[in-house]
Amino acid sequence: MSDEGGICPNCGLPTDLCVCETIAQEEAKITVTVERRKWGRLTTVVSGFDKTIDLGEMATKLKSKLACGGAAKRGHVELQGDHRGIITGVLGKLGFPEEMVVVDWTFQRRGRR
Ligand SMILES: [Zn+2]
Repeated sequence: MSDEGGICPNCGLPTDLCVCETIAQEEAKITVTVERRKWGRLTTVVSGFDKTIDLGEMATKLKSKLACGGAAKRGHVELQGDHRGIITGVLGKLGFPEEMVVVDWTFQRRGRR
């Protein structure tokens, strides 16, 4: 495999400069996005939990901490309302460090195009 002489086959950089492994670790992120659903309701979608995490339990904890409705779906948790402002702190208390949480702020409430 290494007839390239220390070049990463993935990114083409010398292996001592290669960050592919670091990137793979950083991909373990919790992603928070907001979507507009039926009747204009905003829903916070939290995804990226490790497969070992019980999403039902996670949904229950998040709902109680955020005092909102919501449910565990396939591979993610949905919460009623826009909780982006505080969810990083809440996830932190649940054992997910802030660096691991990526909040997508692109959705704007006022966005009626
Ligand atoms: Zn690489």
